[in-house]
Amino acid sequence: VTFKDLGIVDPLCEACERMGYKKPTPIQAESIPLALQERDIIGIAETGSGKTVAFALPILQALLEKPSPFFALVLAPTRELAAQISQAFEALGSLISLRCALVLGGMDMVQQAIALGKKPHVIVATPGRLLDHLEKTKGFSLRNLRYLVMDEADRLLDMDFGPILEKVLKFLPRERRTFLFSATMSSKVESLQRASLKDPLKVSI
Ligand code: AMP
Repeated sequence: VTFKDLGIVDPLCEACERMGYKKPTPIQAESIPLALQERDIIGIAETGSGKTVAFALPILQALLEKPSPFFALVLAPTRELAAQISQAFEALGSLISLRCALVLGGMDMVQQAIALGKKPHVIVATPGRLLDHLEKTKGFSLRNLRYLVMDEADRLLDMDFGPILEKVLKFLPRERRTFLFSATMSSKVESLQRASLKDPLKVSI
C-alpha cells in the first residue's frame, strides 16, 4: 500500500516522500481512509506507531480542499509532545503554506496571542493554556473549528486535564470531526469519548 492508494493527494504524498516515509505504517493504513470519509475515530496506538502522521494527513487534505483559519486544534498532554506534533504538521504542510501555532503553558501569553491573531490553520496546544486564551484573548474564537484531535488521551486524563477538556469542549462547535488517540482504553477515556465523539470508528493496531 502507498499513501496515494489510501487516498492522499499528490502534494501530501510528496511531502511524505521528502520526510522519508516510503509506505504507511499499520495505524496510518487503517485510519487514513476512514478519516478521509469524515468519520470520528478512536485510535488505540502507542507512540512510535506513526499516529501523528495518521491524523495530520487527513486534516491537511481537508484543509487543502477548503483552506480556512482555525481549521484544526490538537491537544496534547505535554509541551514536548505538542512541539513534536507541531513540527510534524509544519514538515508535512511545508508545500501547502500551512500556518501552525504552538500554544504551551509556561510561555509568554502575549506572544501567543499575537501568533493566534495571525489566524493559523492549525493550533497545537496543551489544554490549560488553550483554555486561558479561549477565556481571555480578545478576538480569539474556535467557533469555526473543523477538526479536534485529543492525542494521548489516557495521559491527558491521568494528568487531570479532564475538567479543563470539558471546559474547552464548550468553546468548540458541535459540527466538527474528532479524533481521539490513546495508548490504552480506560473507563475515563471511554467517558471522554462519549462526551466528545459522534458515532466513532475504532482503529487499533
Ligand atoms: P509517532 O507515533 O507519531 O510519534 O511517530 C513515530 C515516528 O515515526 C516519527 O518519528 C515519525 O516521523 C515516524 N513515521 C511516521 N510515519 C512514518 C512512515 N509512514 N514511515 C516511516 N516513518 C514514519
